[in-house]
Amino acid sequence: MDFRLSPAHQMIRDTARRFVDKELPRERVLEWVRNRVEPPREVFRKLGELGLYGFLIPAEYGGGDEADPVGLAVFVEQLARASSALATIYGRAAVICGPLVAAFGTAAQKDLVLPRVARGEVVLSLALTEPDAGSDAASIQTRAERQVDGSYLVRGAKTFITQAESADFQVLAARTEADRYRGITLFLLERPGAIPNVECRRIDTLGLSIAPTYGVSYSGVALAADSVIGSAGEGWKYLLHGLDMERFYHGAITTGASQAIVDEVVTYVKQRVQFGQPLGKLQAVRHKLADMQTSVDAARLLTYRAAHALQLQGSAPREASMAKLVGAETYMRVAHDGLQLLGGYGYSVESGLPMHFADAKLFEIGGGAMEIQRNIIAKAMGL
Ligand SMILES: Cc1cc2nc3c(=O)[nH]c(=O)nc-3n(C[C@H](O)[C@H](O)[C@H](O)COP(=O)(O)OP(=O)(O)OC[C@H]3O[C@@H](n4cnc5c(N)ncnc54)[C@H](O)[C@@H]3O)c2cc1C
Repeated sequence: MDFRLSPAHQMIRDTARRFVDKELPRERVLEWVRNRVEPPREVFRKLGELGLYGFLIPAEYGGGDEADPVGLAVFVEQLARASSALATIYGRAAVICGPLVAAFGTAAQKDLVLPRVARGEVVLSLALTEPDAGSDAASIQTRAERQVDGSYLVRGAKTFITQAESADFQVLAARTEADRYRGITLFLLERPGAIPNVECRRIDTLGLSIAPTYGVSYSGVALAADSVIGSAGEGWKYLLHGLDMERFYHGAITTGASQAIVDEVVTYVKQRVQFGQPLGKLQAVRHKLADMQTSVDAARLLTYRAAHALQLQGSAPREASMAKLVGAETYMRVAHDGLQLLGGYGYSVESGLPMHFADAKLFEIGGGAMEIQRNIIAKAMGL
């Protein structure tokens, strides 16, 4: 077993680190957070130019020669050093919705979406959660009724749909039959925020303000027959594939963001002198940081194991859920303890810790809450 990164993955890490240092300094990211605005599209286009959008996109559409979840984790760890919210924006296109279209979409849908994903040009959103269907996602009630001409009419409501308004494409989950699992169909909507009878209402949230989230209503939205992704009734199966990838991916985001906090705190406690010595010489501080780094390493190892499992098997619910569970809880704890170790400075917005503190909580809820990850792991244990 070799834990070292391959030369190709080392190159990805170094390229990503240089990009983050140059293009995403903390002041720039905090300006977006302060103004609650999405990052400019040019940031993502530059990532596309560097070939950093293609880890899960097939080569014929501009992606890599083969799926590379390990490379993706290496890259995202660096991106999330700047902002975990920014990494979630990237992930909706490059990790969840793009690969879902690549795996199950029609030829026309792939031609329309995938080259633009690979170039980092487009924002994609996933519309699954509803006011009465969160953790129990298979209970969605938004209906897509088939019309005599084969088209569909959609009625219902979604909630917490990230970037629903600005997205270029939306993957929408709707019910086409009563059957709990086999009645769910996925649709591809172009420019959903501009479609008649689609209304988006921004929801104010604790963190993730640069990746705004919306309540969305669909009051009689006409969708052409060819907007169905893959086959009608197969949507739940397709979603499971995407959610596995999202969970592993959350492991990578939370590992990278947690490492950024630890690095920041280590630098700080080496130079901050109180009671005649640097804080980093106090045993209580040293032990706290040792625990923080150990948790981050554990999250990283679980994330890389999930990446390997996904590469080999395509599906890895147990490994992906463990990576997300440990990663998200580590991020929350490290943000809490890191803020404490920076004292008053940690409480100031400019330290970046309040942003992490607020963003970290999302990863214990979104993409399947911690309790749901534990349920998945327990099920895989035969319980
Ligand atoms: C900022 C943000 C962005 C989001 N973006 C998107 C998006 O882009 N697209 C999208 O579709 N969704 C999105 N979501 C929704 C997110 O995936 C859900 O919030 C999440 O799945 C939890 O669902 P819920 O909020 O309805 O909580 P609930 O399901 O109501 O759960 C509430 C609490 O009960 C616990 N619980 C529920 N069931 C069980 C159980 N069986 N055993 C033990 N405990 C349980 C949960 O773990 C949780 O702690 C987003 C959410 C947020 C906050």
